[in-house]
Order: sequence, then C-alpha cells, then structure tokens
Amino acid sequence: MYDERSLKAEDFINDDEILDTLRYAGEHASDLTLAQQILEKARLKKGLTHREASLLLACEDEEVNRQIFSLAQEIKKEFYGNRIVMFAPLYLSNYCVNECQYCPYHHRNKHITRKKLTQEEIAREVTALQDMGHKRLAIEAGEDPVNNPIEYILECIRTIYSVKHKNGSIRRVNVNIAATTVENYRKLKEAGIGTYILFQETYNKERYEELHPAGPKHDYAYHTEAMDRAMEGGIDDVGLGVLFGLESYRYEFAGLLMHAEHLEAVHGVGPHTISVPRVKHADDIDPEVFDNSIPDSVFMKIIACIRIAVPYTGMIISTRESASCRKQALAVGISQISGASRTSVGGYYEAEPEEENSEQFDVSDKRTLDEVVNWLMKLGYIPSFCTACYREGRTGDRFMTLLKAGQIQNCCLPNALLTLKEYLLDYASEDTKRIGYEMIEKEIMEVPNEKARETLKKYLAALDEGKRDFRF
Ligand code: SAM
Repeated sequence: MYDERSLKAEDFINDDEILDTLRYAGEHASDLTLAQQILEKARLKKGLTHREASLLLACEDEEVNRQIFSLAQEIKKEFYGNRIVMFAPLYLSNYCVNECQYCPYHHRNKHITRKKLTQEEIAREVTALQDMGHKRLAIEAGEDPVNNPIEYILECIRTIYSVKHKNGSIRRVNVNIAATTVENYRKLKEAGIGTYILFQETYNKERYEELHPAGPKHDYAYHTEAMDRAMEGGIDDVGLGVLFGLESYRYEFAGLLMHAEHLEAVHGVGPHTISVPRVKHADDIDPEVFDNSIPDSVFMKIIACIRIAVPYTGMIISTRESASCRKQALAVGISQISGASRTSVGGYYEAEPEEENSEQFDVSDKRTLDEVVNWLMKLGYIPSFCTACYREGRTGDRFMTLLKAGQIQNCCLPNALLTLKEYLLDYASEDTKRIGYEMIEKEIMEVPNEKARETLKKYLAALDEGKRDFRF
C-alpha cells in the first residue's frame, strides 16, 4: 500500500502507485486545461507531486513543453542564480563483489584491471586534482567488505583532507559508496563528509533484482532504504539519482519524485541533490543491451520536469555527457557539473598504460578543467568552487530553509566569486583569467546586501595578497 511516510521501500516506492500514476499521466496527457493548472501550481515554485509532474512529462503539446522549459529556467535562475558548482570524482577502488549488469566493476568481469589506491597513491591523486584547481570531490568505490571496508574509506577521507599542496586543499568530500549500516553512516558523518550520494539505478523492483543478480546490492529494500539509514546516522545531505536507460524513464521519474517526497515527509528535508546519469559504454558493457535508452530531447525534458517538481534540489550532470548536451542541460536546470574527470582508479596522477583498464565508463566530455571553466564563463555562468555551506553548518533543513527563503543568495554569490578568484589566481590560463576578472568585477554589483558587498571587496583584495579560504 502506498504510504510516503512508511520506512519500508515497498510502501514509499509502491509499484501499484507508480503504475497508477503512469496510467493517469497517459490518460490525461492531452488534457491541456489540466496541464495548465499544474503549470500554474508549478509557478508558485513550491514543487509538484509525482502525479502532477508525471502528467507534464507525458504531455506532448508544444506550447506546454515551451512553458515547462521556460519555467525550469526561471526556477533555476531564482534559486541558483547563474552559478555552477564544480567537482571531480575520485575512484578509490574498483574491487567489487556485486554483479551489476551495467557496470564493468561487476565481480565476474575478469578482464578489467582491479586496483585499490594506497594512501600514498591517494595523496598523489589529490595533489594532481588540487593542481587543476579542484576543491570538491566525490569519492567512488565498488562494494567489497574485504578490500574496501568502511575503515579503508574513512582512512581515504582523512588522507584527502590532510593533503595541502601549494594553495590547494580539498574542502568537501562527497561520498558515493554502496548502501551501508546506520553505524557506518555515523562514521562517515564524523569523518566530515558533505553529501552521501547513492543512485537507485532503477526503482522497479523486479528489474532491479534482474540487474543485480548477486551480491549484497541484490537486496532492493536495503538499497532503497539507505537514505533513511544515512539520515538516522546523522547525514542530512543526501543525493538521489537513477541510471537512465535501465527501465522506462517514466517509471524512474515517478519513483525518483516519490523518493524525494518520502524524504521530505519523514525527515523534513528532501534530497540535497539529484543526479541524472545515463548508461554508457564500458568494458564488458554494451549500452545497446539496455533497450530503454533515451534521446537528448527526452533527457532535457526529464531534467526540466525534475527542476520544476523539486525546485530546492541541486542537480548534477557528469562528464558521461558531451559538452553540447551539458550546455543544453545547464540551461534547463543543472547546477553542478564535474570537470576533467577520470573514471579509472589512479587516473589523475598518470594516464593509465594501454595494457591496463580500470575505468568505470567512457567519458564524453574530455576537456581540461580550465577549458570547462572558460567555456562556462563564456556561456554566462559563474563557475563556483564553493564548499562553504556544510563547513558553516548550513546542511539539511538549515540549508533548505535559507534556500526556500531566497536568502542563500547572500552567501552563495560572494562565495562563488571568492572561490572563482582563488581559481584564477592559482590555476587559470591567461585567457580564463581575463574573462574571469571581468566577470567578477561585473558580478560584485549584483551582491544584494551592501555590507556583504563591502566585506566581499575586502576579501577579494586580500586574496591578491596571498590569503585564502574566506567564506560567508
Ligand atoms: N558501488 C557503489 C554503488 O553500488 O552504489 C557506487 C559507486 S559506482 C562507482 C557509481 C555509479 O556509477 C553507479 O551507481 C552507477 O549508477 C554508475 N554506473 C555504473 N556503470 C555505469 C555505466 N556503464 N554507465 C554509466 N554509469 C554507470
């Protein structure tokens, strides 16, 4: 029975409710009066239910679609301004006991090179990432209680935070590891992580079990209830996502929104981020095998509909997608992107020798971080290396309350400009510096509060004198 407040996966991601929602959306997809009523509600910028948003997703009317995209842009601008938060993934280990059918780390894959970074290797990777200008990482690992126990992950986090190279430092470590226990989530919280990210892969239980035939990840309920355990362990910023291509996108879309509604209903705070990965080619994996792949046009509509249904969540797109696809996605809702990513274990310090192959999937956007930063600014976005919120205790509902009241802008814009200037001073090419300094000059005037503007100018000037890490 559908119950968003229940702590049981089968209740809050209820299959009958999803199928009913899809039936309802299909039957009313041409009801333009209803679509307009839902759009009116969406214009209040307080979100939509999974049913309402599913109807908009199913609606093929050109004018309705135009309004959906235009509202998504407006919402993004209002809550996130023109800032884009930058991060990079760091692969710690590809040892894995699971059998995820879409992932080359799957246990039976004998031709992938298995690697696990030592602490010295991690320090080298982190130095290389700092030398590019990164401040925020998402660590990634396969699930393997023997090779990658929680103690290993915690040790890696300590190493990452401890590396201080030139003016560099990693100031926020987000974690994307397999579902685990409340006790382990508590340990991650104590280690000072930012967001705990876990992709559902697919919300369809039957399909989930087929795609994860063995290993601990086979347990659908344990995986789906992970965010509740993370919250119980004290992690109040969690990141959702599905791997588009595994199941029908309309099913995943409804499931994803139901998961967000569940978190809000039970914990009083929805997802901090939503990621929208699509299945990619990888060693031993042919994406053609998954017959639910989606074209770019549908992908953009999914992003726009998530944007208007969950206005308060950050949205992430990775280098799985090409530069041109990322450009379109930024316009309709994305607020965080990775840059210069390597999905191989140890790929930042040195390129992998030809005979080795430890990467997780093919990357489409292969540009350097400087190229991505330069490109973003030419498109009118402010690349932000900000990590201030969780360091200032603005997490969970504190963050959401400020965001909903439109007050987060008072911190975000100054922090974005400060961290952009740090990047320009320490890592940027001449051309990027030129565009960046012009952008900062122009944007200072947009800081809403005069006192904040004056403090910002003082901090920006202090960066020129070699000081670092000011934050609002
Ligand atoms: N091992 C952890 C788990 O099971 O949740 C998480 C880390 S895994 C390195 C990160 C994500 O990569 C997975 O959750 C999955 O969605 C995605 N992924 C796996 N194979 C992929 C592929 N072939 N193409 C695109 N993304 C993929």
